[in-house]
Amino acid sequence: MSEAHAPVESAAEEPDYFEVLVESMRELLVAKGLIGAGEVRAMVETLDAHDPTIGAALVARAWVDADFRARLRDDATAVVEQSGIDNYDQARFVVLEQTPDTHNLVVCTLCSCYPRALLGLPPDWYKSRPYRSRAVREPRAVLAGFGTDVADEVRIRVHDSNANMRYLVMPMRPAGTDGWTQEQLAALVTRDSMIGVSRARTP
Ligand code: FE
Repeated sequence: MSEAHAPVESAAEEPDYFEVLVESMRELLVAKGLIGAGEVRAMVETLDAHDPTIGAALVARAWVDADFRARLRDDATAVVEQSGIDNYDQARFVVLEQTPDTHNLVVCTLCSCYPRALLGLPPDWYKSRPYRSRAVREPRAVLAGFGTDVADEVRIRVHDSNANMRYLVMPMRPAGTDGWTQEQLAALVTRDSMIGVSRARTP
């Protein structure tokens, strides 16, 4: 977009409350020797290095490799760490498999806990109060809002994440993908399908 090249406004305005708070915290932590000046930047780099393609690769491999799928089901945390993925916030992972009978949906009712090492940073709606409260009270309506209709006979299970336990939903493999490579399949696995608000893309 051409707006990316628009001139940056000079900082005539006062910084807002949160900018002052963040900068003060950073200066205090550095001054007290609790963090190094480069650590915040390094953490931002780590956060930026993680995105949904990491989770999608795990799902696609599980679709084509039954042993891998079984290992993921048994101990997803171990598989993640053995796969060379940087589990930088030392989360414990649980993989939830979508089935024809059960649709899994993930929320953090308290805040924004999320499998960041596998999906990157959560979308804004995931952190919003309406999603956090409605996902538990009326999951079927929330899913419908995402364009995901779940039949009445399909059970919906809502999983509440916390600081130690992060859920990754494994969507069902779409029909019409026989013989597809892992890379082709991974392109069908969206972020939202790994949160459970939608299904994998269909070819
Ligand atoms: Fe949280």
